[in-house]
Amino acid sequence: MRVTMSELKLPVCSSCGRPIPPHERGVRFPCPNCGEVIIWRCPRCRKMVNPYKCPKCGFEGP
Ligand SMILES: [Zn+2]
Ligand SMILES: [Zn+2]
Repeated sequence: MRVTMSELKLPVCSSCGRPIPPHERGVRFPCPNCGEVIIWRCPRCRKMVNPYKCPKCGFEGP
């Protein structure tokens, strides 16, 4: 079975919208407001404390 990059589902950073490669240590946590969405953040956004937004409830925050 071959896995190509297009088939590989990478988590997307909720702050910058970029896919987070497995070698980058992104953090994931459920939305603090609704808890139904897993928020991903790439190390860069985490370091820069970029804001994120929950796609479901619209909660914003670091
Ligand atoms: Zn990011
Ligand atoms: Zn939410």
